[in-house]
Amino acid sequence: MFRLDLGTARDRPGQPVTFEFRKKLPGIEQLEEAGTAVGPVEVAVTITYLEGLYWLEGTVDGRFVTDCARCLERVEIRFGTKLAEKYARGGPGADTEVMPVEGDFIDLTEKIVESVLLALPMKPLCSPDCLGLCAECGQVLNKAACDCRPDGIDPRLAELGRLLNPDKKGVE
Ligand SMILES: [Zn+2]
Ligand SMILES: [Zn+2]
Repeated sequence: MFRLDLGTARDRPGQPVTFEFRKKLPGIEQLEEAGTAVGPVEVAVTITYLEGLYWLEGTVDGRFVTDCARCLERVEIRFGTKLAEKYARGGPGADTEVMPVEGDFIDLTEKIVESVLLALPMKPLCSPDCLGLCAECGQVLNKAACDCRPDGIDPRLAELGRLLNPDKKGVE
């Protein structure tokens, strides 16, 4: 759990109070079942209390280990996301962007999980010009060429062709 105690911030209005965590993220079983591992996340947030509102700002950093969408090799992808929220006792009131606080704590876990899920690219790539697999023989084309291209098109150009004509089915 990523739990923030609001007491100190409330006792010192206008002064940011810092919280730091480095730990494994709960609630990402779906990702893990899909073959994406998430390392421990580093979370650094400050909370500033001002006129009834708790202003939260911070960063979440970590890494995914997942499969390249083209060549299926394991690939490590670092991510860094930002958090910015407002909280208040009693909830939104007139300002609908304000999140409710119950008791003296904020549990940030859900927000962090949300931001990490959003940080995962739809198509993770080991490199922007990954050549992928040969559609014919399955050769990993980053490692070696194969003899399946009778038209002799350079795979990099073929990739460019796919980008320019996204409707055509590629190797992915
Ligand atoms: Zn790749
Ligand atoms: Zn081939």
